[in-house]
Amino acid sequence: MSSIIEPFDQPLASTTEWDSPMFRLAQQQFLQAAEIMQLDENIRDRLLFPQRTLMVSFPCRRDDYRNVETVFGYRVQHVLTMGPTKGGIRYHQDVNLGEVSALAMWMTWKCALMHLPFGGAKGGVRIDPTKLSRTEIQRLTRRYTMEIISMIGPDKDIPAPDLGTNAQVMAWIMDTYSQQVGYSVPEIVTGKPVVLGGSLGRTEATGRGLVYLIVEAAQHIGLRLKQCTAVVQGFGNVGSNAARFLAEQGVRLIGVSDVSGGIYNPEGLDVNALHDYVAQHGSLAGYPHAESISNSDLLELECDILVPAAVQNQITQENAPRLQCKILAEGANGPTTLEADRILQERGIFVLPDVLGNAGGVTVSYFEWVQDTQNFTWTLEEINDRLHKVMVGAFQRTLLRSQRDKLDMRTAALIEGIERVASAKLLRGLFP
Ligand code: GLU
Repeated sequence: MSSIIEPFDQPLASTTEWDSPMFRLAQQQFLQAAEIMQLDENIRDRLLFPQRTLMVSFPCRRDDYRNVETVFGYRVQHVLTMGPTKGGIRYHQDVNLGEVSALAMWMTWKCALMHLPFGGAKGGVRIDPTKLSRTEIQRLTRRYTMEIISMIGPDKDIPAPDLGTNAQVMAWIMDTYSQQVGYSVPEIVTGKPVVLGGSLGRTEATGRGLVYLIVEAAQHIGLRLKQCTAVVQGFGNVGSNAARFLAEQGVRLIGVSDVSGGIYNPEGLDVNALHDYVAQHGSLAGYPHAESISNSDLLELECDILVPAAVQNQITQENAPRLQCKILAEGANGPTTLEADRILQERGIFVLPDVLGNAGGVTVSYFEWVQDTQNFTWTLEEINDRLHKVMVGAFQRTLLRSQRDKLDMRTAALIEGIERVASAKLLRGLFP
């Protein structure tokens, strides 16, 4: 036998299996960070693809009891090294395996950066939930849960809300899982309603956490929030809560958008009135005290703080040169492309990258899981205090690394996360 071991051609995976613009972005970000930190090649190749991938198709009966749609769903677990995997479930018409895998990879870095004892996961179903009735979404959720049930579990993989899902969807997942095992298992999901074991403060945690970071970032670059203006893209759970907490800090919200388009008022928008309007009318369309503006013009408004809190791929090489903000606070996952990142760095825009920026959600999810598994109930004050500590700690670690190693904030955050995962992998060693 030859003593020279020929390495396999790297990587053995056929990239087309996962290929999508979002997965390429996640991989490129990772490879860039791996190169800078000189990550061991064996570990690098191991982390480049998810550890477990489940793709399912299942029937969804429409309310007319005649049509049955075949829908596609996914659950991806990126790293199982450091505990159960954790990540949301997204219902969106563009969901595909690559997107879910990218999101799972980002969850790994996010959990590691925040020092949470989880690896990353994500799930998704490719449907437009706005086109389905409540009963259709319930049936779809229960069937999807059954399809992925062997993969999830309170010690294995714990889903949560993401784009297009909410506390009610989590309640149906919890019920379906509990029916199968024969007793209530609140800790199977996080982000569920409080009466079912959900945590106080979980719904608004992502927006709240993002604003805790904006306070730190503003202090760092010498901005006084009471004199600042903000623009928020997206008025779902993350955007609407970020807007609310920014207003509480005395920031003037001048622009906001949702799927129906954008609105702009340089004098300032009343966040409570916006919340009431959306609750009544379902979207921002027709809001009276503002001019309408396109989503793309909204991003280029002159403001101090820009919060992309909608979907991926919004800040690109095309519009990055025209952004006029000082802080880019990412509430969405993957809103900024690789090329745009370089431009933002050259232009000196301070970025709170997604893995840090929106980590408040999974952080309070962790608190929810801990409360459920230990039968604790923490007060809202305890939750928010703990969230504040975790967010500020991660911000400081990231900033310190970015200053010490002269890195942009995204690369610094990724390296903080990757380093922890790599060290866990080395400590566990290989089986067999
Ligand atoms: N979907 C959220 C995220 O992207 C939250 C995940 C969780 O709470 O597990 O971070």
